[in-house]
Amino acid sequence: MKRCPVCGKPIKGNLEMCPECYVERRDVFWLDDIIELVKCPRCEFFKIRGRWKGISFEDALVEAVYSSLRVIPEFKVEDVFISPLTRGEVGKYAVRLEGSLDGEFISVEKVVEVRVRREVCKRCSREAGGYYESIVQIRADGRKISEEELEVVRGIIERVIERERENQKAFISKIVERKEGIDYYFGDRNIGKKISRLIADELGGKIIESKKIHTRKDGQDVYRFTYAVRLPAYRKGDIVEENGRICVVMSQKLGKAVSIDSGETVNLRNPKLIARRDEIMESVVVSCDEFVVEVLHPITQQVVQAIKPKIDLKPGDTVFVFEHGERIYVIPKELI
Ligand SMILES: [Zn+2]
Ligand SMILES: [Zn+2]
Repeated sequence: MKRCPVCGKPIKGNLEMCPECYVERRDVFWLDDIIELVKCPRCEFFKIRGRWKGISFEDALVEAVYSSLRVIPEFKVEDVFISPLTRGEVGKYAVRLEGSLDGEFISVEKVVEVRVRREVCKRCSREAGGYYESIVQIRADGRKISEEELEVVRGIIERVIERERENQKAFISKIVERKEGIDYYFGDRNIGKKISRLIADELGGKIIESKKIHTRKDGQDVYRFTYAVRLPAYRKGDIVEENGRICVVMSQKLGKAVSIDSGETVNLRNPKLIARRDEIMESVVVSCDEFVVEVLHPITQQVVQAIKPKIDLKPGDTVFVFEHGERIYVIPKELI
């Protein structure tokens, strides 16, 4: 049996001394004396093994300690404790490792100095430089974009950018408000593509994609992409004509409407806007027979004849009306 040359105790493992003597005379682990964390002063991300990550100082420190740490194979580390010896984030820290060495529990410690070096990350320097790869143009067909639609657009952009926080190009480099709509410039091509699709999914409409050569890099053309989102002319509650039928739009997103005459669902393929939802007024039925309905004109308060839907109406019923082509149409209350 092998014996420890220092204390004479029998040795069970492969080391040339017993664990106790070994720990006193040799290193069981190595760590750089100075641990340097690299932090972006703009977004406060840390650079971990060449990648920028949105993590806390503590997590960045753990990552940095782990990547500097080297341990002899006989030392089975079970716990690592990192504790500050000075006040504040930078300064001295004790790094203590616990585990077993040739079957015996050991606890060993080293003191390191932690420093933080500031470096602007790629994302921030691109963002500050106005870098962009794609433009998402939001336009509405023949009308202004509503505030509600803009809310939806902003929400989608915020969510996508938040989800891609570690994508070095996931940022808005510019927002330009124009008479005809709004343009968002994004650092990443795919972010622009993704956002335009989500907007069209949510609000309906079409996307027209185009690209322009921006520059040449390493012998290759580099493009900038434009995703023009054209929101539909109609919105929920508007009155449109689809293939001769007059309908109330139920879903802008799905392109669905309901016929005001029969109450049937209509798929909007090529709708023509005939009245905005804020042009629809409340009225009351004065008289009604099989063919004709008379209502009070909401503005003049005169009794006028209107186009009758295929439902039963009786005097005193509340209905909605709108004017189109010098005629008055009645919409059953249930459809509004
Ligand atoms: Zn010994
Ligand atoms: Zn940054």
